[in-house]
Amino acid sequence: MAIATLLVRANVSSFLFAPVSMTTGPLDIGPANGPLATVISSDALSAIPVNAAVSLWNSYHPFYKGPLIRVKATAVSSYPGLPDVIGQASCNTADLCSPPGGQWCCGTVALTVLASRGVGMFDVFVHEIGHAVIDLSATDRQNPARSISTMHWVPEEHREIMGATLEFPAFMSVYTARAPDQTTTVACTESDCPGECRPPGAGASGLPPKCTAWEYHPPASTHPPDDGLVWYIIAIILLWVILFGIGCYITRRRDYSALNNYEI
Ligand SMILES: [Zn+2]
Repeated sequence: MAIATLLVRANVSSFLFAPVSMTTGPLDIGPANGPLATVISSDALSAIPVNAAVSLWNSYHPFYKGPLIRVKATAVSSYPGLPDVIGQASCNTADLCSPPGGQWCCGTVALTVLASRGVGMFDVFVHEIGHAVIDLSATDRQNPARSISTMHWVPEEHREIMGATLEFPAFMSVYTARAPDQTTTVACTESDCPGECRPPGAGASGLPPKCTAWEYHPPASTHPPDDGLVWYIIAIILLWVILFGIGCYITRRRDYSALNNYEI
């Protein structure tokens, strides 16, 4: 008995001094970094650029509630038969969004990028993730004639990250940052967010500013408050005209009565 007790105590003792381990699990992206997409696998060369690219997209949609895109990333040495291709995105057939015509992928997406791009792999991943997270019905809020229904913006701005041909240095437009969901983005223009539209970070270039005044719902269209204000003013004017008209009518009646009385 004494030996058994000693053994139990020894086990407890060794357990207490055992190293504490942390195991991997699903990436938990907090409310300050919306789960637009997450990386579920990557190889050695693609790990840093693909995680940075996913974080960039998530940072513009801190309150995104749509389907989480699960990214599998791989660096490849070439695309046989496709000498000009530098990156590709492919969605699992089972994860294609339904109905077709909306967002392209609603689940796992496989991204490949040409390893020879080096540091440029980040830009290519930003582009390829864009294919997975942008709804094909998205348009540019400032210019509704600009559409991404063909996977790339038309008309296309030179060097814009979601153009069909990626040139360096590339930049991300406000309309690209907003495109996954116009209601959950913090990407802003000065007219959308006057006085509170700030650069996304020290030293950041080629990235849209973020509105520090939008805690949850950014404006979904260009000028909804103005439209509401216009209708409010029209209603006030109509009410004033009606009341003024009634007032005039009553006053006139009184005037006529007084005049009539006077004449009488
Ligand atoms: Zn593309």
